[in-house]
Amino acid sequence: MKNMHCPKCHSTEVIRLPGGIQSPSTLSGAKTPSSFKTINTTQYCCANCGYSEVWVDNPEDLKALLKKFGF
Ligand SMILES: [Zn+2]
Repeated sequence: MKNMHCPKCHSTEVIRLPGGIQSPSTLSGAKTPSSFKTINTTQYCCANCGYSEVWVDNPEDLKALLKKFGF
């Protein structure tokens, strides 16, 4: 989806929605301490079929999430 190409309907009309800040609890469904930092994400939405994806912007945030919620 990052290549602006929908994996579902193969449309190239993909919308890149402004990042916004999301709590990791939104991703995992787990309750997190309020001290845990928020993460920046970017959402991609297909303008043709409505399929959407959310990407974590910062690789460091992914490491933090893995540490916190990984197996
Ligand atoms: Zn699509």
